[in-house]
Amino acid sequence: MFDKILIANRGEIALRVIRACREMGIATVAVHSTADSDAMHVRMADESVCIGPPPSSQSYLSFPAILSACEVTGAQAIHPGYGFLSENANFVQAVEDHGLTFIGPSADHIRIMGDKITAKETAKRLGIPVVPGSEGGVSEIAEALKIAADIGYPVIVKATAGGGGRGMKVARNAAELEIALKTARTEAKAAFGNDEVYLEKYLTTPRHVELQIFGDGRGNAVHLGERDCSLQRRHQKVLEEAPGPVISAEERARIGGISAAAVAEINYIGAGTIEYLYENGEFYFIEMNTRLQVEHPVTEAIFGVDLVREQIRVAAGLPMSFAQDDLQIQGHAIEVRINAEKLPNFSPCPGTVTQFHAPGGLGVRMDSAIYAGYRIPPFYDSLIAKLIVHGRDRPEALARLDRALSELVVDGIDTTIPLFHALLGEEAIRKGDYNIHWLEEWLRTHLGG
Ligand code: ADP
Repeated sequence: MFDKILIANRGEIALRVIRACREMGIATVAVHSTADSDAMHVRMADESVCIGPPPSSQSYLSFPAILSACEVTGAQAIHPGYGFLSENANFVQAVEDHGLTFIGPSADHIRIMGDKITAKETAKRLGIPVVPGSEGGVSEIAEALKIAADIGYPVIVKATAGGGGRGMKVARNAAELEIALKTARTEAKAAFGNDEVYLEKYLTTPRHVELQIFGDGRGNAVHLGERDCSLQRRHQKVLEEAPGPVISAEERARIGGISAAAVAEINYIGAGTIEYLYENGEFYFIEMNTRLQVEHPVTEAIFGVDLVREQIRVAAGLPMSFAQDDLQIQGHAIEVRINAEKLPNFSPCPGTVTQFHAPGGLGVRMDSAIYAGYRIPPFYDSLIAKLIVHGRDRPEALARLDRALSELVVDGIDTTIPLFHALLGEEAIRKGDYNIHWLEEWLRTHLGG
């Protein structure tokens, strides 16, 4: 086992990793930009190293800065958290070239799931169901029109290099497709430096259902059920729950089995998520995230496992501490993402937190790196806290969320907390009756956003 781990991240996820390390008796090194000298992860780690100025490109994304921090502190492994360098194959390669361990999948695993066209081809090869669409990239309109006619409208044009919900255009007919293909390519070129796009059937009322998988790197893999992340704004998740409100035990076993077998075949190591759209009883692959997800705590709650601990174990060459049969779902969990944003437009709202009181009690988990007096820097993601509740069933989890939100105090800045108070009053949320478009429509009618 490692003696010392460096965490190449900030905010709540850096704390999350520090907590797992502390329970395992592993020393921790925090890295931080000059904007984060007062950050909680710096205070909580055993050691810290300032790695550069506020822009991420010069600090949290800087290979040399992070690798030298390992060198000077003697850290043997790097946990990347999510975002930043977590899915950067070149970084993984650099870490290994320096004789250090990357806590996550191999550079090759990241590459084959990296761009969306390669990911879709890999998924197909591994027996995962995919959305009908083009074989690879499409550049000519004649070809696009032919494919669209075959699969039927509406279709979606997606950038192979897309991410974070960007680089997608929907077309409902041939005329729209001509425009969508052109604008998607121009936008993809500008945003990602790669104008390759592909086409797939646009599903009109799907749910976003993703499977948590975990592999030991030696051909063994398990699944830890699904999370329903259909409540999205601009393709960004807002609330996640596990298990999915509409997924049966048979469906879970089937898609979980397919997902785990696929990653076992490639000797996948560590945590990963296979994202699907789910419509009319069918699952369709959209992408795989080769890292820990923001919403991993809902899975931890219902299975009673520590996914970060498990990541560290397999990275150190130990076997997984559970087998598929040990993984039984207990109850229901919900996570809400609390952002420093001003409603109704969700405009980022950094500033100083004057008061902070975290909720507690049975079945309540608060993953946050803020504190009273903390000044939220304007340079990074606006996520400031994740509130996770766990109950014996979905109604109990909802009641607990309502109760926990009523205890939560964050003063001095605007946050998305009022959104969740309002959502809990909605029948569709109470019944679990929503798809990926529900929240956008609700926001239009309720907030005019
Ligand atoms: P990103 O990597 O940018 O997050 P994804 O491929 O994961 O992109 O898609 C993000 C979201 O876009 C999905 O959760 C879904 O809401 C929507 N989406 C993507 N593909 C389709 C599709 N074929 N039909 C309908 N919606 C889609």
